Amino acid sequence: MWKQILEIDLSSQKSRVLEEEELFHRTMGGTAAGTHLLERYCDPSIDPFDAGNPIILSIGPFSNILPVATKTVALFKSPHTGELGESHAGGRLAMALYNAGFSAIVIIGAAREPVFLNIYNDQVEFLHAGSLWGYSSSATERVLRGRDIGAGGKRSILRIGPAGERLSTYACATVDTQRHFGRLGLGAVMGSKKLKAMVIGGNRYLTVPDKKKFKKYYDSLYDTVVASGEMKKYHDLGTAGNILALNKIQGLPTRNFSQGWFEGSEQISGEVFGNDHLSRQIACAHCQCGCIHLATLREQFHKEHGFKTFQVSYDFELIYALGTNLSINDPKCILKLLHKTEKEGWDAMSVGVTLAWATDAFLGGLIGTDETDGLVLRFGDAETYLESMEKMSRHATPFYKDLEKGAAACSRIYGGEDAAICFGGNEGAGYITGENAFTDWIVGVRHSHLDGAGYSIDQALLKADMSLEDQTKKLASEAKFRMLLNSLVICLFARNIYKPEIIKEGLDLLWRPCAQDELDAFCSDTLRRKYEFKIKCGWNPNEINLPKRLTEVITTTGKVNPENIRRRAGIYWKEIGLTTRRS
Ligand code: SF4
Repeated sequence: MWKQILEIDLSSQKSRVLEEEELFHRTMGGTAAGTHLLERYCDPSIDPFDAGNPIILSIGPFSNILPVATKTVALFKSPHTGELGESHAGGRLAMALYNAGFSAIVIIGAAREPVFLNIYNDQVEFLHAGSLWGYSSSATERVLRGRDIGAGGKRSILRIGPAGERLSTYACATVDTQRHFGRLGLGAVMGSKKLKAMVIGGNRYLTVPDKKKFKKYYDSLYDTVVASGEMKKYHDLGTAGNILALNKIQGLPTRNFSQGWFEGSEQISGEVFGNDHLSRQIACAHCQCGCIHLATLREQFHKEHGFKTFQVSYDFELIYALGTNLSINDPKCILKLLHKTEKEGWDAMSVGVTLAWATDAFLGGLIGTDETDGLVLRFGDAETYLESMEKMSRHATPFYKDLEKGAAACSRIYGGEDAAICFGGNEGAGYITGENAFTDWIVGVRHSHLDGAGYSIDQALLKADMSLEDQTKKLASEAKFRMLLNSLVICLFARNIYKPEIIKEGLDLLWRPCAQDELDAFCSDTLRRKYEFKIKCGWNPNEINLPKRLTEVITTTGKVNPENIRRRAGIYWKEIGLTTRRS
């Protein structure tokens, strides 16, 4: 793997290459190396919009070399939660970083005027982006792709939409064809630095040691990806196949998490999207699965005018956030809301959950038409949601400006905390499966369904009993193991392929030999460092807040007991070795 970092200072418009042999020898790459760099570059007490907030992008020793090791990790201080910001994205970015010859890029400082970066190997151009400022994320990509810069078709283009420019705290950063650093507001951090986009590429390669052994190892992994069936469900229906599956077990958030089944689920299932709307499937660079499903959205340009056609990416989380949770049962309406979300550059889960909170706040009389600029919010009304998004994008009233800060921030201003489905300030994912999912989101480092797969543990309980203690230990053990997967940085859809013994063999070939004890310590240390950073930012692990609505709804595994959540959190902290009591 590469042992260099590219450090780019937007304030001075200078860059330099840092040799980091020791860092990558110790931390492998991805999330572990990124966490060390965050400790080095980020003062936890700074405002997330301070120029001192770094953006760290990192890849691992398997990136661009092994199948489905496709993700790039971004680390920063989150403007959405005020603590650890971490997000992962696919597309071509990991390949482009590798081709540029770096295992990490660190961006510091802030530009005075809008810029975009053209990075080719270690050459960095700071180019004026005034004419791109205000462009949607898709238009920005189109313009940059048309320009004769970078590494041709092997470039990766990372950019923000207008939401990032407006500093919406849940603005995402978009990579290539509708891949995202979705959660926790990387787009807003880029916006605060006046960094509209980055074009990354290069022509560098490393040779693989022991080619014969490597080929055998690679072929076996490749065969497992394409022929074992492990990834078939992601390729076929994609995660959208979960709509009916979760609906059946009462785990599908509906109308702002007020119930776990949606009466319109048959109309917006993965099967319906696949049969009637799917236009093509694509893959991240060096993935043989190709789970990215793109639907066609055809809209009349204007009355008496012709049609325009868009490709809109869909998956389970997107259909939940802008479909079931808003009670919308028409795939075309969901695609329209997703298209608007994509253009603005919002995180779909955050914007969906925030609109669901706003609907409840309107229905409960906490806000009225003064706040909504005359709109009557009600579940199922897609056209009004689309109008609300339009008003959000031009801050039509102070309320619409507030909606760009998320459900937790809005509930602090207008009330309705019980119905603000947030965990540590981050809007919830699409599972009402029970106590493991909710505990995971409360205690997880990213407050996300990607931390420990609590929703899987809940679903497993339908088949076999397990004690509360064992469930929580499983959650903690998964959270630790993911430190390894995320340091490599493997797409989590391939987590059942990259088993520990297979990872060790790959490390032997591409990093360095590593005993199981050392790997266990590596995982624990990486996770602990993240919690330490969060605590230094002011996050308090003793605050176990579950929105009241989630104690009332019937989940897949029954009603949730808040006392159990506290018990689970205690066991979790013990398992990962975090001391939570303060004197
Ligand atoms: S499975 Fe999907 S998200 Fe994962 S690497 Fe492949 S295309 Fe990308």
